[in-house]
Amino acid sequence: MRKLKRPSARCRALFIEVSQYLDGDVSAARRRAIEHHIASCACCATMAERLRHTIAACRAAAGSAVPRAVKLCAAKRIQTLLAQNAARQRPAVEP
Ligand SMILES: [Zn+2]
Repeated sequence: MRKLKRPSARCRALFIEVSQYLDGDVSAARRRAIEHHIASCACCATMAERLRHTIAACRAAAGSAVPRAVKLCAAKRIQTLLAQNAARQRPAVEP
């Protein structure tokens, strides 16, 4: 995997909009500005491509059934976390 430079403040601001851009939820002027930036910025181009790939994978998996073993494991983990959270919030009992 190629190492990317640290994103600039402009790039970080753009990250917020890229998801909307990929969904087509930006104005034509904003779309052109984002595309212009992406065309000249390897960091944002890579990020946009990875996000596009992730969105496609999520959409492809949306219709898949979750295996029973995964559901049971997730339920057990959620119960453990809820119990830990409840124990932390209980006031200490003085003898
Ligand atoms: Zn950028």
